[in-house]
Amino acid sequence: MNRRQCLRRLSLASLATLVGCGCHSAPTTGRKQLLLMPEGQEVSLGADAFHQMLEDEPDSQNTHWVELVERVGHRIAAQSDRPDYEWEFKVVSSPTQNAFCLPGGKVAIYEGILPVCQDEAGLAVVMSHEVAHALARHGGERMSQSFAVDQTKQAISFMTRNQEETRRKMIMKAYGVGTEYGVLLPYNRKQESEADHIGIMLMSQAGYDPQAAPAFWQRFSKLGAEKPPEFLSTHPSDSRRSSDLDLLLPEAMDLYANAKEQHGSGVKV
Ligand SMILES: [Zn+2]
Repeated sequence: MNRRQCLRRLSLASLATLVGCGCHSAPTTGRKQLLLMPEGQEVSLGADAFHQMLEDEPDSQNTHWVELVERVGHRIAAQSDRPDYEWEFKVVSSPTQNAFCLPGGKVAIYEGILPVCQDEAGLAVVMSHEVAHALARHGGERMSQSFAVDQTKQAISFMTRNQEETRRKMIMKAYGVGTEYGVLLPYNRKQESEADHIGIMLMSQAGYDPQAAPAFWQRFSKLGAEKPPEFLSTHPSDSRRSSDLDLLLPEAMDLYANAKEQHGSGVKV
């Protein structure tokens, strides 16, 4: 075997190892996923990216909003089955209609999204949806898919070299940090529907009325003119989203009825 053949065989073996240990199942839906980056690495990059991002973004001075986000966040986190995450909840002083959750439970809500939420249950819709993207590791899955499809060599070098800065930037991009419309972040449709599915169950278990979910997305869709073009092409249509959520409502209402406490819609934002 010459050197080139030997290297090629080595590369294929490395990829097989990566892919072989890359099969996972999403929580709640059980959908099979390809995840190449070890979760621990995603979590530590998430924490780095979160703290770096917060240095550039001013904290909200609205104590009512800060308390609300903390309260709703902790209730959702308690139902997430991830006591190993070091959950953090921040409200960013900005009119941007943005929200995201990075791996490891690092959640940021921008002030601009809060009036659309109207009350605690509406906030629970947004937060549980974003938390669901992180629990299901959608950003990590997106990175893995693009590597697996056309960048085998980059995948191997990515996994084997020390490229902390590049990785941090990638994870920020994959989870929507710094985008103007975080909630509208163009995950693919399957991931969006999955985040809706996981999210509505989470908020119900946390004691928030799940009927707030279809209502929130209907309100959100009426922001109409402000939507960026990606929203239209990558997100489930509003009618589809609402009808999918309606189908999930009976199961969600059962979870809500059996929740430790029912908070209904909670207090007004
Ligand atoms: Zn989403």
